[in-house]
Amino acid sequence: MKILIVNAGSSSLKYQLIDMNDESTLAKGLVERIGIEGSHLVQKAKGEVFELTVPMKDHVEACKHMLNALTDREHGVVSDMSEISAVGHRVLHGGAKFTQSVIIDDKVMDAIAENIPLGPLHNPANLMGIKACQEVMPNTPMVAVFDTAFHQTMPPEAYLYGIPYEYYERLKVRKYGFHGTSHRYVSARTAEFLNRKPEGLRIITCHLGNGSSLCAVKDGKCMDTSMGITPLDGVLMGTRCGSIDPSVVQYICDNDGISVDEMLTICNKKSGLLGISGVSSDMRDVMAASKEGNKRAIIARKMLVYGIRKYIGSFAAVLNGVDAIVFTAGIGENNSELRAEIMQGFEYLGASIDPEKNQICGKEVDISAPDSKVKVLVIPTNEEIAIARDTLALVK
Ligand code: ADP
Repeated sequence: MKILIVNAGSSSLKYQLIDMNDESTLAKGLVERIGIEGSHLVQKAKGEVFELTVPMKDHVEACKHMLNALTDREHGVVSDMSEISAVGHRVLHGGAKFTQSVIIDDKVMDAIAENIPLGPLHNPANLMGIKACQEVMPNTPMVAVFDTAFHQTMPPEAYLYGIPYEYYERLKVRKYGFHGTSHRYVSARTAEFLNRKPEGLRIITCHLGNGSSLCAVKDGKCMDTSMGITPLDGVLMGTRCGSIDPSVVQYICDNDGISVDEMLTICNKKSGLLGISGVSSDMRDVMAASKEGNKRAIIARKMLVYGIRKYIGSFAAVLNGVDAIVFTAGIGENNSELRAEIMQGFEYLGASIDPEKNQICGKEVDISAPDSKVKVLVIPTNEEIAIARDTLALVK
């Protein structure tokens, strides 16, 4: 059985075709600049790169070209669209309604639309992606996998903000959390890796990429997470500021005569590693600049480490101790220096790493010191496989 994974953005569409017999990736593609000049598709399959630049006025045309590329005689991997058994769509915001993945029907489409105010950038794009796929593959079942779903087990004391309760009741203002598919996959893999059942395990998963979030997982369930009503909250990220006192927004808006919208764009796109270092949003560049003595890059690096350590400490308190601390995503999987800095001084929690093992990157590995009571692991995330497995389970 072959399953197509689609992640639609406002002008982009990422896709992956997975063969569920061995969970191998048959093809991986990206369509960019949909609806604007220079629409472009690039697909990697069979060790080759296939590229196409043709006008694509909307997501429907992008989907047609995606299918053409997948079924292309020379560059494709399937002979006919009917070989694709189902499509799994990544959807950002499922609100409190979706606690797990679902088969997409009209009601689900309405519910995703209802959540547009909570995910104004992503949910409309996700809907466009689903509608486009439905148009070009009308008989193929579709599944929605939500970034927020895994976090819906948080208790109210973790998800409520300390503002009048009526805002929760009237406007659904609360913490939802994101990267849920990654935290779910990584925490489940952690239990398997340790040969344990999820029950009884207390895990802190650190998804550190362009966007970063941490999650406190107990008995396989999310107890707390660092992102909030949007992915802006929590630790310092590539271009996002992480947690700040909301008064900062008012103070700068009043002082500089800018709108809340403009200020939030600054918080989302010009802050974080980029805003502090002035160098880049990419941690590799910030690391390199910090080693050359760039003071702001050194501070950015320290702020990132400091924030992550604070969350690990607080989540250890939430979980009444911790059995495993797990690193994943671009930075977590590949940056051993940063992992070492983050894990410094956690001996009081019973957690320490082996400097040699910590050099290993990009694969599943136990990097704990032999006497560490807490397992410290690197588990590469695989959101596509998680989406494909959910899709398979639901359409079977
Ligand atoms: P996204 O959130 O976009 O999925 P990724 O998980 O790919 O992001 O993470 C991107 C981040 O990972 C960047 O800051 C990048 O610097 C970092 N990263 C990726 N590869 C490496 C590497 N080999 N060494 C250090 N950092 C890396």
